[in-house]
Parts: sequence; structure tokens; C-alpha cells
Amino acid sequence: MSDQLVIDTLDFVRNGKALRGSIPLHDLQRLGSYLLDSTGELTYEISGQLDDLNRPMLEIAVNATLDLSCQRCLKTIGYVLDVKTTLLLARTEDELALYDEDIFVDAIYASNELDILALVEDETILSLPVSPRHEDTGCHISAETETHEDIEKKHPFSILASLKHPH
Ligand SMILES: [Zn+2]
Repeated sequence: MSDQLVIDTLDFVRNGKALRGSIPLHDLQRLGSYLLDSTGELTYEISGQLDDLNRPMLEIAVNATLDLSCQRCLKTIGYVLDVKTTLLLARTEDELALYDEDIFVDAIYASNELDILALVEDETILSLPVSPRHEDTGCHISAETETHEDIEKKHPFSILASLKHPH
């Protein structure tokens, strides 16, 4: 396990701090349940800033290539994760409630012991596709079985419909 990494969020912003590092995927157990293979690592970068309205916020970037499972053929997709997000830091319960009403911002409580690994893991899981699939040409299902082609010949429109409405 990596050492636990915590920051005092408002102090982090006040001093314009930034933090970058890498985390082995093995250490992120919640994320691991979404992955076919947990070898490798992700890299993150977090910086403390003020937004245009002088509100403290964290800017977060996470990058990795993750082995997700294609929902059609169940084989690996090398999903390129490229998260860039900002989180406003609410200093009071009222402020948090106010931010939560604003659909254009995401906010968390301005903890003085924010767990960076948990934060990076949360943001990563939130940005995973709900139903990952290969592009049609890259999917193994048409190459390895004939059923897909057969169904397509019989019911071209139902296939099309299911593609247009991914679950
Ligand atoms: Zn596939």
C-alpha cells in the first residue's frame, strides 16, 4: 500500500501548492472492481487555486490507461483516462448546500485532512464510461462468433436500435 496522503485543503489553496505523483492501480481496490487487470499505475496532479469569484478550489488531473471490459464481447478495452476537473471547497455547511444547488460546479467540504488517494480514486470512478464497448471494427464478437452477423442479417434494425440506445 502507498502511504496515506492527506492535505489541509484551504492551506493548500492559500499557499498555491501543487502535488503530483503516481499510484499503483493495485492500491485502489474500489477502482479495481471495474478493471480486468490492475497492473500499471495512474498519474495525478492536484493544484490549489482560486476561481474567478475568488472561491478556493482544487484543480485535478488524472491520467491512466485502464483495462476495462467491453460490454459486448467481454474482452479488454485499453481505455485512455484523461480526467480534468475542478472541485470547489466549501468552508461551511451553508456554502456546501449552495454549491450543491449549482449544476455547473462540483464541491466538497474543505477538509483539513483530505485523503488524496480516495479523492483521485473517486474522480477516476466517476469518469469511467457506464457501458464501455469497442468500436465496431475492433470488437471481438463479430470475428469470433457468427451469431452477431446472423442476427444482423435477420434483424438489421433491431441491432441498429440497440446501438443507438446503449444501456
Ligand atoms: Zn468488444
